Amino acid sequence: MPDAARLARRMGRILAETYPEADTELAHTSPLELLVATVLSAQSTDERVNSVTPALFARYPDAAAYAAADRAELESLIQTVGLYRSKAASIQGLAQALCDRHGGEVPTTLEELVALPGVGRKTANVVLGNAFGVPGIAVDTHVGRLARRFGWTEESAPEKVEEDLMQLFPPSEWTDLSHRMILHGRRVCHARKPACDACPLASLCPSSTLPPATSATRSAPPREEARS
Ligand code: SF4
Repeated sequence: MPDAARLARRMGRILAETYPEADTELAHTSPLELLVATVLSAQSTDERVNSVTPALFARYPDAAAYAAADRAELESLIQTVGLYRSKAASIQGLAQALCDRHGGEVPTTLEELVALPGVGRKTANVVLGNAFGVPGIAVDTHVGRLARRFGWTEESAPEKVEEDLMQLFPPSEWTDLSHRMILHGRRVCHARKPACDACPLASLCPSSTLPPATSATRSAPPREEARS
C-alpha cells in the first residue's frame, strides 16, 4: 500500500474511534423520506430540516402524494428551510419522475438516482449509503474541505474528490467515512477556524498548525483558505 494510502487509513481509523456514532443526522424512516430530506438540506441545517419533516412526511406519505400536492401548501410546510420555492419544485419533479419511471419507489443504483431531476452524486450517495446499505462517499462542503486539508486530494470538483477517496479507502468504509468527516468538519475542523490544537488528527494532518510529526507533514500543502 502506498504511503499516502497508509497515512489516510491511519487518519480514517482515528476518525472512526473519535466518531463511533457517526450516522446521517437527517431523520427518516424510508428511502423516500431520506431523499426528500436530503433535497431539503441543501444550504440548510439538518436541525432545520428535521424540524419540518415530521409534518411533511405525515402529509405526503408517498411519491404520488408529493406529485399531486398543492404547490402552495407544500411550500408552506418547508418554508423555514430556505429556498423553499425551488425545493418544492424539485421535490415535485422528483416525485413525478419516481412515479413515471420507478412505480413510485426510490431506485437503488447510482445511475438511476442521478438520472432523476435534481439528484446529484452527493444526494444519490447519501441515499444509497444510508437507505440501501450500498457504499458511497457523499462529498459535501465539509468532506471536500477536509479531504484537501488532509492531503487526500488536490481536487475541488466533488466528483473528483469522491474518486480520490474511493482510491484510498475500501468500499466498506465509504459511507461511514463521509459521516465522520462531516462531524469532524462541524465540530473541530471548521472552515474558518480549525481547532488544530484540540484535533486528534493533528500529529498526522499536513494542514495542522502543530509542529510536523511525520515525513508526510513536512511536505504539507499550505492551509486551505476557508470557503464556507
Ligand atoms: S489538524 Fe487542523 S486542519 Fe488538520 S484535521 Fe485537525 S483541525 Fe483540521
